Amino acid sequence: MTPTRATLGVDVGGTATKAGLVDRSGAVLLRFQRASERNAGTKGIIAVVEELVRRAGGLGLTVEGIGVGAAGFIDADSGSVTFAPNIVYDDPQIADAVRSRVGVPVIVDNDANAAVWGERSFGAASGSDHVAYVTVGTGIGSGFVVQGRLLRGFSGAAAELGHTIVDPAGPRCGCGLRGCLEQFGSGIGIARMARELLPDARDSSILAFAGSIDAVSAEDVARAAHQYDETARRVLANAGRYLGIGLSNIANMFDPEVIVLSGSVIKAGEPFLGPVRDELFRLTAAQRRRPMRLDVTSLGGDAGIVGAAALAWEEVSGS
Ligand SMILES: [Zn+2]
Repeated sequence: MTPTRATLGVDVGGTATKAGLVDRSGAVLLRFQRASERNAGTKGIIAVVEELVRRAGGLGLTVEGIGVGAAGFIDADSGSVTFAPNIVYDDPQIADAVRSRVGVPVIVDNDANAAVWGERSFGAASGSDHVAYVTVGTGIGSGFVVQGRLLRGFSGAAAELGHTIVDPAGPRCGCGLRGCLEQFGSGIGIARMARELLPDARDSSILAFAGSIDAVSAEDVARAAHQYDETARRVLANAGRYLGIGLSNIANMFDPEVIVLSGSVIKAGEPFLGPVRDELFRLTAAQRRRPMRLDVTSLGGDAGIVGAAALAWEEVSGS
């Protein structure tokens, strides 16, 4: 039977605002996406919401509630943004702004929180009450389910794994600190480490992909690694070891049952993921910790949409 009820999940990132109509079982019935308006994030959210509400009507679907996962520090109680480094929200009272247009319950949370809730509700961490979600792209984002609840912190600024310090003498980070994990274990870190090695490795195929040292991206490094380029493999192994250290820090803080990895850098595959896993399990074994499961996302790019929609379902049903 065709479902007649849906919630709408929105995932607001620095580059794209994605949205979907989602049924009670977590299936995405319809997707819509547009470029994020970096100086008008809330306007962009309202635009995708209005478009999908309109299309829902055409499909005979009733939108019962709306969930928004937004990049930045979010006060989930009021549905407002308190700080966002990569996007400007023209109206920080996101929940009120969307509700006034559509007239259904609206819940707003951080984008990584929405994603971990998606994996926990319908994805790789289904049913677990102890989940860490780490997304490795240009930077590092993270969300945690601790004892069955989302970890939000006092001001919505919890769960910033990327800005835990792994080398106090390391490079300056965009957050204001020095030597954050994000500067080593992410796309930023991979590109920087490759640029540092390339002057002494001119025959590396990283340069063939990138064109010049200044233009090197993490994707160039991953492509070279798949051709067994030694420099690329060294860089990915080093970045992977740092991420493994970050995951070991998570183990010491939260003792998760499962850690779910996602993000574009994960697509580099074994040259990156092997060292992540090896380092995590080496450190876990050294402490005689119970081994935890390390998995990759099963929802992929839909995790944020599905998770935001799941939060909306819970809001609607009062659970
Ligand atoms: Zn930082």
